[in-house]
Amino acid sequence: MKASEIRSKWLAFFASKGHKIEPSAPLVPHNDPSLLWINAGMAPLKPYFDGRVVPDNPRIANSQKCIRTNDIENVGKTRRHHTFFEMLGNFSIGDYFKEEVITWAWEFLTSPEWIGFDPEKLSVTVYPEDTEAFEYWNKKIGLPEERIYKLQDNFWDIGEGPCGPCTEIFYDRGEAYGDLNDPECWPGGENERFLEVWNLVFSQFNHNKDGSYTPLPNKNIDTGAGLERFASILQNVDSNFDTDLFQPIIQKTCELAGVKYHTNNEHDVALKVIADHIRTVAFSVGDGVLPSNEGRGYVIRRLLRRAVRYGKVIGMDKPFLYSLTPIVGEIMGVYYPEVVEKREFIEKVIRTEEERFHETLSDGLAILAEMTEQARKAGRTEISGPDAFKLYDTYGFPFDLTEDFASEQGMTVDREGFDRSMQEQRDRARAARQDSDSMKVQGGPLADLTVKSEFVGYNDLVTTAKVE
Ligand code: ATP
Ligand code: MG
Ligand code: MG
Ligand code: MG
Repeated sequence: MKASEIRSKWLAFFASKGHKIEPSAPLVPHNDPSLLWINAGMAPLKPYFDGRVVPDNPRIANSQKCIRTNDIENVGKTRRHHTFFEMLGNFSIGDYFKEEVITWAWEFLTSPEWIGFDPEKLSVTVYPEDTEAFEYWNKKIGLPEERIYKLQDNFWDIGEGPCGPCTEIFYDRGEAYGDLNDPECWPGGENERFLEVWNLVFSQFNHNKDGSYTPLPNKNIDTGAGLERFASILQNVDSNFDTDLFQPIIQKTCELAGVKYHTNNEHDVALKVIADHIRTVAFSVGDGVLPSNEGRGYVIRRLLRRAVRYGKVIGMDKPFLYSLTPIVGEIMGVYYPEVVEKREFIEKVIRTEEERFHETLSDGLAILAEMTEQARKAGRTEISGPDAFKLYDTYGFPFDLTEDFASEQGMTVDREGFDRSMQEQRDRARAARQDSDSMKVQGGPLADLTVKSEFVGYNDLVTTAKVE
C-alpha cells in the first residue's frame, strides 16, 4: 500500500466516524511563541484544546507535517526517526473518550478494509494506574494481558495545564529483530523489535499550580501516528527509508553520486541523512523559513550543511541537494501542493546556500593548507587540537573532514586536543550563562541564546545571537 493511500485511508476512516478533516498547518507555529516548529498534529489545534476557540465540530482528524530536531542524532541510525515526518491524528475536543478512541484505533489497524494489520502482531502499553484503558484493551478488544505492558512513562504531562495518561500501540516485527527474553525488546525498550506506531493521549486532568491534579470537566483526546512507520510495515520493508516516501530520493542521490544503496553501511547512513534533511529543508523553505544565523533559519542552515557534509561521504563535492527538490515534490505534492508550487523558489534558495557553504569550505581548506604547512615547517606531522577546533568552530569543518584532508597530506590530527578545546568552549559558554544575571531573570528560551561569532566569508565576519 502506497503511503498516499495510507494517508487517504486515515482521513476517510475518521471522516466516516464524524470527524472534520483539517488540512496540515504550516511548519511555523502561528501565535505560539512556546514552539520553534510544529512538532505534533495537536500543536496547531491548541486553541481548541485550551478552550480559546470552540471548533464547529468537536471531532477533528488531520495529517500534519512535523519537525522534531531533537531526533536528529537518531536519523540514519534507527529505522523509524526523521527530522521531518507526517503525523496522522484524530482529536476529540470534549467529545468522545477512551472507549471510542481505543475501539476505532483497533478497527482502523486490523480491519482488512482499512490497514489490515495482523491483530496477533499488535501489543500496547498503558499507564499502570489507568485501569480503564487496560479494561478496554483486555475486555472489549480481547487483547491478552501479556500483550498489555504497564509503563510508568505513559503519562503525558508538561507542567501546569491539561495532562493525562496515554496508551501506545506497537507492531511486533518478529524474532529477527530481537529476543523476547530481553526486556529491551519489549515495547518502550531501546530495541526496535516492537515498532511504536500510534500514541493515544487521554487528556483528563489539570496539573494545578500547587502540583495537585484535578479531573478536567471537558476531557480531550489527542492521538498521533507516524505515516512513515505505517508505510514501512505495509510495504514490508526494513525501515522507513525503504518506503516509497524515501526511495525515489535515495535512488536519485545514488544516481548523482554513482553509488549503490545497500552495499556499504556508511554510504547508507549518508543516503538516509540526506533524504531526511532535504525533506525538512525543502518543506521549511516552502513555508517561508530562509537559512540564516538565528532561530529557525539557523536550524535549516545547520541541517543543510549537515546534508552537504554527508554528501561528501558519497563523493558529492558540488551542490546537489537542490536537485532533489523536484523528487520531494513528486512524492509529497499530492497532499502538500506547496512543495510543487514553490519548487523553483525552494531550489534556488537551497542552491545558493549550498554554493555559499562550498565557498566557506574552500576558505577553510586554504586555512588548513596553511596550518599543515606551518606544522611541517615546525617538524610536526600532526594538526593540533586547537587548530582542528578552529576549523570546526569557525569554518564549519567537522573533525572527520579535517582528518580526511590532513591524511591526504600525510598528516594526522590530535583528536584528544580537539575534544579538549570543544569541552573548554562548552565550559566557557556554561559559565557565561551562569554568570549572566540578566539571562537568569529572563529564563526560558532566552537563556539558551548564546552569542558566538560565525565565519561566513572573508569580508563578512558577523557576530550574531543564535539558538544552540
Ligand atoms: P519514539 O519513541 O519512537 O521516539 P515518540 O514516543 O517520541 O516516538 P510520540 O511523541 O508519541 O513519539 O509521537 C506520536 C507518533 O509519531 C509516534 O508513535 C510515531 O509513530 C510518530 N513519530 C514520533 N517521532 C517521530 C520521528 N522523529 N520520526 C517519525 N515518526 C515519529
Ligand atoms: Mg521520540
Ligand atoms: Mg515513544
Ligand atoms: Mg510515543
